[in-house]
Amino acid sequence: MSASSQIDCKQVAGVVRPLIDLSACEGKQDCVPVCPYDVFEMRPITQDEYKTLSLRGRIKTWVHGREKAFAVRADACHACGLCVTACPEKAIRLTKFT
Ligand code: SF4
Repeated sequence: MSASSQIDCKQVAGVVRPLIDLSACEGKQDCVPVCPYDVFEMRPITQDEYKTLSLRGRIKTWVHGREKAFAVRADACHACGLCVTACPEKAIRLTKFT
């Protein structure tokens, strides 16, 4: 059975993508294993990305480490919503590709 037949896919790939609030992400990685399409990867935030964070986001990053989730294969997203539910920080929402 393929991954796509095991979950409730809302869209074909390339219509919707996950948007990660890096100020909210604490790098807990729950989104990585839950995504059936391997959309996410973890890596340390760059200094340029760090500068874009809110004050609260900078403090969270300082406390929890610089590891963040990135939607490196966002074009594979099928909008199942599993990552949105899994994220304990509510840092992920789905948005349409523009
Ligand atoms: S909604 Fe989240 S878990 Fe589902 S396919 Fe898209 S990125 Fe992966």
